This record gives sequence, C-alpha cells and structure tokens, in this order.
Amino acid sequence: MTVSRLQRLRPLIAEKGLDGLLVSQPKNCCYLSGFTGSSGWLLISDSYALLATDFRYTEQAKKETQDFEIIQIKGEPHNWLLDLISNLGWHKLGFEAEHLSFAAHHQLAETIKGKQLNLELIPTTNLAEHLRSIKEPEELELIMKAVELTDAAFEQAKAIIRPGVTEKEIAWEIEKFLRRNGSEGVPFEIIIASGPNSALPHSKPTERIICSGEPVLIDMGARVGSYCSDFSRTLCLGKPDKTLPEIYNIVLEAQLLAIDRIESGMTAAEADKLARSVIEQAGYGDNFGHGLGHGVGLTIHELPTLSATSSDLLGDGMVFTIEPGIYLTGYGGVRIEDMVTLEKGRAKVLTRSGKDSFQL
Ligand code: ZN
Repeated sequence: MTVSRLQRLRPLIAEKGLDGLLVSQPKNCCYLSGFTGSSGWLLISDSYALLATDFRYTEQAKKETQDFEIIQIKGEPHNWLLDLISNLGWHKLGFEAEHLSFAAHHQLAETIKGKQLNLELIPTTNLAEHLRSIKEPEELELIMKAVELTDAAFEQAKAIIRPGVTEKEIAWEIEKFLRRNGSEGVPFEIIIASGPNSALPHSKPTERIICSGEPVLIDMGARVGSYCSDFSRTLCLGKPDKTLPEIYNIVLEAQLLAIDRIESGMTAAEADKLARSVIEQAGYGDNFGHGLGHGVGLTIHELPTLSATSSDLLGDGMVFTIEPGIYLTGYGGVRIEDMVTLEKGRAKVLTRSGKDSFQL
C-alpha cells in the first residue's frame, strides 16, 4: 500500500525539480510510511526512502514500515540531516513550508552556510496533502466506520437531550458513547451550542441549560483506524419560533442543492457558490461566514477546501463535508453537515442521519 503512495509522490517531487523531499508533518509521515509515532522525518527521492526517528520510536518504526530504511537520530535536523544529504549528493531539498518550523529552517540554513554546502532548501506546499485528498478504498472503508459511529451517536444524543440539561452534560454523554463504541478519542471537542451560543460556528459547550423552542447545534466527529468523520445537525426541543423554520429550510435547501449539483472537475469555489447563492438569494449571505466544507481523512480538516476563494479541483475519490449554515448573532444558528465522497463524478452522501426536520 505504502509503495503505491510513494510511487504517486515521486513524480511530484521530480516535477518541482527537487532531488528529494523532507517530510515532517506527522500525518503525511504516517500516510506515506505507515509510521504512527509523533516524532519522525521522511527523506524521499526517486530511489530512496528513509525514516529518521529518535530512540523512543525506532522499534515501533521497524514494525510499522516496510519500504523505508530506518535510522536513529538525535535532535533537530541540522544535527543529522546535512551529512546524510551530502552523501546522497543532493543539491535541491524540498521541505514542507507549512510545517517545518522557522527555527528548524533557520538552523538548517545557518549550518549549510557555515559548512559551505552546495544545498538549496526549497519550500513546497501540499505535495503529500494532495495525494491524501484522493482516498483509496481501504481509507474510505475506515471513514465509513467513523461516519456510522457519528450517526449512531446522533441517535443517542436525540435520546438523552431534553430541556433542563446543560450543553456540557450532553457533550460528555456523546463523547462517552463515541469512545465506548470504538472511537479513538474524538478528533475535536464536541460542540453542543444552544440558543444564542449556536450563532458561534465553533462554540465550546458551556454550563448553559438547554431550553425548549431554541436551536441546539450539535457538531461532532469520530475516529476509526486513524480516519475521521465530521457531522452536524441542528435540533429544536418543543415548539420553535418563526425564525428557526425559516433559516433551517434555507440551509437545508442550500445543502441539498450543493449535494445534487456538485461534480468532479468543478473547482471547490464553484461548489461553494452553489450553496452560497441559495443563502444569498434568501437574504442571509452575510450570515454564512465560513466555507461550504472541507476534506476529511487522517485529519478533520484537509484538502479539498470548499470556500469562495478555493482553487482546489474536485475529483473522484475525494471525501469532504457539505455544511452550509446561517448564524444570527444574539439569536442562534443552523448548520447541517453531511460527509460525501465523489464517485463517478457525483456526490454520494455517506452520512445516514435524517435532516428533513429539526424538530425532536
Ligand atoms: Zn466540518
């Protein structure tokens, strides 16, 4: 499995005119090598694949990886990387600009200067992330398990939520349910946001007591076999006021339209526009302040980024969320989030939970 990932990465390294790539982002390391430790570096070229880690992880690395030579290192890259690269005869080394720290880069650059090495450090972005955005069947299977778990947790949430309980109590009950049923922790803090709190897209659960007649926004994720799911629904206990059905139906219409019309080959900005136009035409454009969705996989937010300014190209095998929302400060908000995968050019919805009604 990892061999094919390396084979897909290698042409990208060559395209950039690099002799090799230094991979430091832990999820990229894991994706490419299978190594799940929190501290490791990969050095990859056309014919070379090395995993460098410290003594805490060398045994684990040997068990988890097959196609990588493993070396034990000490400290930051400037201590061990440059001799290795000199021996390989490389002159252009790519690094992950969004992950290598400024301090590590600075130390490397200073050491290269001090030793008068003929080596250029070249920033790259999203090389491994781009590969990660297209899921293999085995990855999709794990994502589906995580999706099934959040669907089940939503059923549990509906069974226990009632006026008088606090946001924190519900969040904790959902977390326990997820973990008890096989989730590896939770990929992000569960959001239970009631009343005006639901107007904050990323509100944290508080001691606020949930009341009837107000929106309650639930946003949660599970992780199975390292792969995440992401899920949101908005509920109402008892009889709602006039605003909630109005904004709920607009968000639902926007979400259904996006699911129906999104196609492989579209840019992520075009996808975002599908839902955004519905919300804008209803007069709530300013109240949908985030993007339509995001890729999900080893991390809860990854490529593609579905936003008004994204140039990411959507393609078969991608897995992402479709989650439009309307947020009214002081009142509350509505978000409906499903996970989809692009299959034969169209969006196939992975999330099973119903969304026709917010009414519990
Ligand atoms: Zn999300």
